Amino acid sequence: MSVPPVSGDVPLPPFGQGRHLLSVSQFDRAGLQALFDVAEVVRPIAQRNGVCTVLDGAMLGSLFFEPSTRTRLSFESAFLRLGGEVTTTTGFTFSSMAKGESIADTARVVSGYSDVLVVRHPDVGSVAQFAAASVVPVINGGDGAGEHPSQALLDCYTLEQELAARGKPMDGCRLAILGDLRFGRTVHSLIRLMSLYDDIAFTLFAPAGLELPEEVSSVALARGHRVRVAPSVVDAVRGADAVYATRVQRERLTDERSASSLVGDLLNRSMLEQAGNLEAVIMHPLPRDSRPGSYDLSSDVDDLPGLAIFHQTDNGLAIRMAIFLTVLGVSTEAVHLTTKQRPWRADLRA
Ligand code: ASP
Repeated sequence: MSVPPVSGDVPLPPFGQGRHLLSVSQFDRAGLQALFDVAEVVRPIAQRNGVCTVLDGAMLGSLFFEPSTRTRLSFESAFLRLGGEVTTTTGFTFSSMAKGESIADTARVVSGYSDVLVVRHPDVGSVAQFAAASVVPVINGGDGAGEHPSQALLDCYTLEQELAARGKPMDGCRLAILGDLRFGRTVHSLIRLMSLYDDIAFTLFAPAGLELPEEVSSVALARGHRVRVAPSVVDAVRGADAVYATRVQRERLTDERSASSLVGDLLNRSMLEQAGNLEAVIMHPLPRDSRPGSYDLSSDVDDLPGLAIFHQTDNGLAIRMAIFLTVLGVSTEAVHLTTKQRPWRADLRA
């Protein structure tokens, strides 16, 4: 498998077999649909309705140099559920980077141990640097305030399903995006990816100093979508089909004063009520900061009919399986052949 080199100046090749996944810019609408089609095929495995060994003998190297719960565990679970094996390292302290090893050396070494790598790193562009020295495909699990492509893929997949359940297409969707739009990498990837659809109306609300970078809004504007900055959360949410709330990325805020001024709720039930929109689809990339006054999505929305945050996390498994199968060139027919009924059962919802 030959992996193409990565350079900041050269546009990234479309996502596919033997390719890195560094940015959502690697997708066009057909590519996105193709990935969603694979996710549909593996959904029963993600839902534990079958056992699959299609990746028997394959090794995932999972390297997370920044905190993560669901991204790391869902990538690893996806690989394991497809029958592969996983090696993992978390944080700088336990890696040789703590001894001054370069990204390039680390990448070359660990890529010799694995068939595919998932990498998260606190610096924008660092995962692309990692990919440039890797001899196997690298999946970006989040590079600082840069991108988080797998999150945006599962967000779009989920939003499409939520809207379809309400008889609405993704084209023409009115999406309110709230919170830390400056450092929230999931928002950067989501807006870029949603821009592949037609006639999206983005309404943005961010606290002062945490506004969306122009380079992201310009992608949507260049494709003819509407981007409006709202004066309040209630205004942003009014008339929206879906609301995407995000956590303040406090770990990236250097100005402590502005971080501590962000208290209360970002979005709660009363705001949705004031906006006359208790039916909206409610999304969040998670984690949601549930400490009192954390300026995040309140848990008092949890019994609303549009709450989709756990549909997102469940869908993350199928999307990440689809990413692995695509990158490793496994056809969905091979997946069918190795799916068999499980003899055990453990889901309390069943
Ligand atoms: N889990 C997401 C990320 O890694 C969102 C967040 O941390 O706020 O970017």
